Amino acid sequence: MSADLDDWTVGAPRLVAQRCGACAARWLFRRNFCPQCGCQPPQPLALTGVGIVHAATVVHRAPDDEFRAIAPYALVLVELDEAVRVMGHAPLGAAIGARVEVTFVEIAGRLLPYFCPIPTATGRSDLSGQGDQGDQGDQVDPGGAWTSPSSK
Ligand SMILES: [Zn+2]
Repeated sequence: MSADLDDWTVGAPRLVAQRCGACAARWLFRRNFCPQCGCQPPQPLALTGVGIVHAATVVHRAPDDEFRAIAPYALVLVELDEAVRVMGHAPLGAAIGARVEVTFVEIAGRLLPYFCPIPTATGRSDLSGQGDQGDQGDQVDPGGAWTSPSSK
């Protein structure tokens, strides 16, 4: 069992999947053997938690009182870069196709994956990149008026 990695289901702020050493199968929930080929034991696969929102929904009717306190809330299904899909909480308005990164928040006494949108580098041209360009056309002759009239 030393090869196991603790994940958020046991209180560690981490996403861990499993993968098969025999075939290319990857899956999220812990098993003792590969669901595709039956090979065992599976190997732990630590996940970056970065991926793309594949599906999103807003929960208005929470399953219990603890979650009712935070309703409405958003749930997303994220296709991680490791080709594993993970369900987690997200800010309201999380859009399908958005690139997100997992954090972990304690909701209703449980540590849960929470996917935050990653600000994209493109499309944010405000503030930066607007220097003092554009008025450099006039060449000022440095000190020319001061050095020349010394002859008599
Ligand atoms: Zn397999």
